[in-house]
Order: sequence, then structure tokens, then C-alpha cells
Amino acid sequence: MQQLWRHQRLRRSTLCLTQGQPLRVLHPGFWNREAGPDFRRAIIQIGDAPPRTGDIEVDRHPTAWFQHGHARNPAYRNVVLHVVWNTAASHPELPTLALEPHLEGRLSELVPWLDTGSLLAIPPGTLGRCYPSLQGLPHESLAELLTASARKRLEQKTQFHRIRSRLTDRDQSLWESLFTALGFQHNRWPLQHLAEIVAEEACGDPRTWEARLFGLSGLLPVDPPSTVEAVRLFRDLWDTWWRERARWSDAILPRQVWRFTGVRPANHPQRRLALAARWRAEGGLPERLRTWLDQCASEDRPPGVLLRKTLEANLPTDSFWNRHWTLRSESQPLHLPWLGESRTTDIAMNAVLPWLRAQAEAAEDMHAVRRIEALYFQWPTGQDNGRLRQIRQRLFSLTRPRLPQGAAIQQGLLQIAEEFCEPGGSLCKSCLFPELIPPS
Ligand code: SF4
Repeated sequence: MQQLWRHQRLRRSTLCLTQGQPLRVLHPGFWNREAGPDFRRAIIQIGDAPPRTGDIEVDRHPTAWFQHGHARNPAYRNVVLHVVWNTAASHPELPTLALEPHLEGRLSELVPWLDTGSLLAIPPGTLGRCYPSLQGLPHESLAELLTASARKRLEQKTQFHRIRSRLTDRDQSLWESLFTALGFQHNRWPLQHLAEIVAEEACGDPRTWEARLFGLSGLLPVDPPSTVEAVRLFRDLWDTWWRERARWSDAILPRQVWRFTGVRPANHPQRRLALAARWRAEGGLPERLRTWLDQCASEDRPPGVLLRKTLEANLPTDSFWNRHWTLRSESQPLHLPWLGESRTTDIAMNAVLPWLRAQAEAAEDMHAVRRIEALYFQWPTGQDNGRLRQIRQRLFSLTRPRLPQGAAIQQGLLQIAEEFCEPGGSLCKSCLFPELIPPS
């Protein structure tokens, strides 16, 4: 059903909702391979109403809207159309399209097409306006273009540290970017906000910091967990938090600001807060990161390995967090690391290297600036994600055999997504990026 919608194998001129109104699909949206609605940023028009941009959810039956919990899930609040297979029944307030009556041919005729690579093909209408120019661009020119975009992103992140260091202090700007990087794609803002709230607090006991961050985040549960070890930690946290709570009562975040769907256990906000609490309690990380830069020049081991060791150094062992992802998760048989390779890459690209660059510039140490930039542009490719896949598909389809590699190239793609694709919308309206592509 997703492929039929994605490629619009429908009699598009006569579409109508199960509620009766005519439907025009101006853009089917971009296929979402992660949690949440199946298509993002579609544009539809119902009857004579103005076109609406929003998400599309595809389910076999309308009742799935309630059975799968979409109705109460905030991730689905921008759904503008529910696509189902074939039924007249539907949610009265949710525009619904039954797919089967509108197929452009019999299903038996379409099945062979589904078997011949439609999963890989990109529907032509969802390619960007820049696609033809990028397609003809030689590999070296494309690498230069993406490197220039990555440089711009590094400059923007360095600028954040220049400004925040003036407003707060240089270590606080690092804490804010580290917390933000721990939030990964979905929980960046609440983690950054927490870093700002606790800016004035001194180092101290890790459990006190943990209680403070859990309490401030709104993620300290009220009901006790079920296992003995978790109950022990739960009591410890509440013993500290009930004494601190009055002091912070104006700053406590509502639980709704956190997103849990599509978040892997290793990136669960509770686990990230436990790590952030240990960093803040120990307090020596900024100094160790300055030393790490010198280590990279003097040691043979890859900078990423050294960085991960630096980020995990001096963290006290913890019998609970060594075996649990969250307060309510089951005990795991193996020791759980605080960070993996991919999160270390994110932290390097988004927090540590821009912060060190701002520090080196402030000290007018241009030798260090060049070393930091070399690390940034040579850092190995990080983990792929839905956002990167979407921008690659839109810019290059899947027909370009080889793309430049590296974490900086991924940063360059994200910069293009933020600077051009998101403001340009699904129809590439007024996008200036095609004019920036050199002639091939
Ligand atoms: S919005 Fe701009 S950069 Fe994005 S796909 Fe369209 S033309 Fe390309």
C-alpha cells in the first residue's frame, strides 16, 4: 500500500474521500522509514479548501488509527490524510482515502510492477529540482560542493560557541552542545534546555546530579518500578529530589516535551540524563577534551577511539546503569556502554570540534584551528539515518553510483536540507540551491 501511494498508482483525477469530498494530491510526501507517519510533508487539497501540507498515514483498516494508538500519539498530530485499503467506514474527523477503488489498474496487474524494483525506484515527482544538475556533476566538483556546505555548518556551530561563551562562559557552551548532541534527533531541545537551567550548579555527587536532572526533566516516575534494583535507585533519586524540588519548581519540564517513539534504548532520554549527570558531577571533561586534541597529534590510535575513551573516562561504575537502558527496562546480560561509535561521531561533529575551534580562534592559535578542521573533514562516515536517506534520495535518487564519503559530507547534506529543502518544501519553491551548483 505504501508503494502504491508513493508512486501514486491511482486514478488521480477522480480521487475522493470516503467522506465524499474530492481529493487532489499535489505531492504524495516523502517516504518515512522511521517511527511516525508513513509519509511526511505531503500536499493535498480537499474540495475547494486551500491546499494543506502534512503527513500521511497508511493502514490497512481505519480502526488501526485507534488500535495502533495514533489517535493519542503527538507524532501523528500533523496527519492530514489516512490512507486505508477498502472500506466505507472511517473516522468522522480524519479525511480518509480508500485506495483499492482508486487503483489505476487491477491489483493483479500492479503486482508484477511491485515485484520489479518499485521499492528502490524514486518516483520522478519527488526528486528535487536540483537533481538534473547534480546528476551531471563530476565526483570532485560534487565533493567540493558538499565540503563547502559542511564548512558552512562548522562555521555556524563555531559561531554558537563564540556567542554563548561571551554570554555565559566557555565551558558552559560546551555543556550545552554536549547535552544537545545527547538528545540525538528527537530530544535535542529539552536536553539543551536542561543544560541551560543547571548552568550555575557546581560539580558534586553523581546521584545528586542524576536526581536533579531526572526531576527537572519531568522523567522521574511517580510510581515505583517493579524490580528490586530499580526500586533502590528510584528511592535514592526521590530521597534527593524531594529536598531539591521546591528550589527548582518553576523550571521543571513537562513530560510532553520528550519524544520516545522511534528512540532506540541506548538513546532513551533517561539513559542520556544518567550520562549527562555523571559528566556534570565530575566536571573535568572540558579540560580532558583540550588534552584529547594534543593526544590526536601524538598517538597512532584513531581520533574517534581516543575521543570515546576521553568521554567515558572518570565515569564511576554504576551497578544499575551498567545493566539497564532505563529505570523500567529489564536487566541486560552484558555490560552496557555509555556511548557507541556513532554517538561519539555525532558528539565530535556537533559539539567537541566546533567548541575547540572557537577556543583555538579566541586564543589566536591558528595551528590548532587547522588541526581541528583537518579532524572535522577527515572524520569517518557516521551512522546513516532517515533524514540523510531522504535528502540523498531527493538530491541524487539512487542512480548516482558513488557519493563522496565522510562525516563532514553528511554534515554538508544536513546543511543543504536545513538551508534549502526544509524552507523550499516538497515542491522546491524558490530554492536557490540549483543556481549554486557549478555547470558540469
Ligand atoms: S528544495 Fe532545493 S536543495 Fe532541496 S531538493 Fe529542492 S531544489 Fe534541491
